[in-house]
Amino acid sequence: MSDQLTVYLNGRYVPYSQALIPVEDRAFLFADGIYEVVRCYGGRPFHLDRHYERLCRSARALELPLPLDEAAFAGIVAELLERNNLQEATVYLQVTRGAAPRRHQIPQGLEPNVVAIARPVQSPSEEEVRRGVSVITVPDTRWGLCWIKTVGLLPNVLARRQAEKEGAFDAVFVRDGLVTEATSSNVFCVIDGVVYTHPLANILPGITRAVVLEILAELGIPCREEAVPLEWFREADEIFLTGTVLEVMGVARVDGRTVGEGRSGPLTLRVWEAFRRRCAS
Ligand code: PMP
Repeated sequence: MSDQLTVYLNGRYVPYSQALIPVEDRAFLFADGIYEVVRCYGGRPFHLDRHYERLCRSARALELPLPLDEAAFAGIVAELLERNNLQEATVYLQVTRGAAPRRHQIPQGLEPNVVAIARPVQSPSEEEVRRGVSVITVPDTRWGLCWIKTVGLLPNVLARRQAEKEGAFDAVFVRDGLVTEATSSNVFCVIDGVVYTHPLANILPGITRAVVLEILAELGIPCREEAVPLEWFREADEIFLTGTVLEVMGVARVDGRTVGEGRSGPLTLRVWEAFRRRCAS
């Protein structure tokens, strides 16, 4: 399938097989690079401005000169959709520090490499959302800068692998006894009618998380950005995950124990419905 794809590489649109990065690119050697994933609905990117803003924050944190402005980002997304004839798609955009002989020290004047790939995607069906997914909990072994969207995702990958081995959909990280987020989504739970989610402290500030917080405010549902202890989490009435690709997904089981009725709860479904309306508008 990839053979047919046209991808973006440093200002050019090229066949997938010709999009090559030097072996000493620092993202390959040191995970010295950042990325964003933008979801497109009906050919229109969802909150591209927020993704660009987060990309800028990640770039600043790494002192990586970002070689594209928001209009260029939007242009790449539009062009990739057009050239690949896509409407429902994700666009993955990665900016690396660039290539140089391997040394920890960051050399001056490096040319960042920018690559972007669009792929077709489908939203989870209503049936899948109603059914919900299962998660396990694992120690949050990641570093202290989880708010930077870097390509250094090995702890996330290994946690996801652990979930897969245990027959679960995903893993939720627990740090100092508190639930932080999942491997590629943010986590919300409902306890006695109040929705809780981890504050923006050493987690990825999800775009979907922000949209869901707006939806909760609109619906008049009380919400607190407070970390929840694992014991409360396991007893929560409802749990849901939020992410660009996953959207809003209920959790039916945690560590093999049923959450609520063992499928997405009523509040989760209200939030999901409101989120879907936003995607369609
Ligand atoms: N947390 C982590 C660790 C992630 O990788 C992601 C996906 N980017 C999210 C949360 C959700 O963020 P978003 O809603 O912006 O996709």
